[in-house]
Amino acid sequence: MSPVGDSAQAVEPTHGDRWIVLRAPDDVLVDAHRDGVGILFGAPPERADPTPLLVDSGGGSRIWAAVVPEGTANPDGAHFTAARTLVGALDPAGFGQLARARMLVEWQRTHRFCGRCGASTGPAADEHAVRCGHCGLRGYPRISPVVIVRVTRADEILLAWPVRAPRPMYTVLAGFVEAGESLEQAAVREIGEEVGLEVDRLTYAGSQPWPFPHSLMVAFTAQYAAGEIAPAPAEIRDAGWYRADALPDLPPHGSIARAMIEQFRLAHATR
Ligand SMILES: [Zn+2]
Repeated sequence: MSPVGDSAQAVEPTHGDRWIVLRAPDDVLVDAHRDGVGILFGAPPERADPTPLLVDSGGGSRIWAAVVPEGTANPDGAHFTAARTLVGALDPAGFGQLARARMLVEWQRTHRFCGRCGASTGPAADEHAVRCGHCGLRGYPRISPVVIVRVTRADEILLAWPVRAPRPMYTVLAGFVEAGESLEQAAVREIGEEVGLEVDRLTYAGSQPWPFPHSLMVAFTAQYAAGEIAPAPAEIRDAGWYRADALPDLPPHGSIARAMIEQFRLAHATR
């Protein structure tokens, strides 16, 4: 999206546009059909927020995000579901639309007042931003980068069960990038902090929007360099080295974490 001349306020919804319907704070309206689930609807819901957000204007038709209040009942033929359950259920393009809708709505919901002077903000006329009506400060959609790192040692992969997962779920390590860090520095620091290992040979391995609520997962692979696993109790319940033929409970399909683990499994499957 260009920074100028493509703001949500330059156009109004028209017949033929499609709608993503979010129910505050975490649910999205889905239409289950034989090919899977759909999140695009042909009309806005009755109780929607009066100012929809433009999610996508490419590919011929526009897509808007509308928000309905918490407690709104399921309409006929569709139902609300937690957005997290759609990881792996939507194709990358569809998940990208959902991610953008959620991130824009979250941004609008949390930037109603200026962080500098406290006055009310409103949509900027010339770009996708909110602008303070008093001092002119602009706020942009918030994106928080997270590094996610697959560490291997010969034919073993490092997997860890994070404290935030209530049931056993072993995954690759991840953490937020801190102010002033490069992605590579963050990756090395996270592995050191969470399991006490040193790694090297970092290689970029892709990225994925992760709208829970506003992250961008940036994936790397790395090689074990030194140290013994020592999980940080505040973050990691358990961690270990696993072979491809004996993997523990894994994160859901559709996540970049699972994709990286499956790539490891494929590379080491036949020997
Ligand atoms: Zn201000």
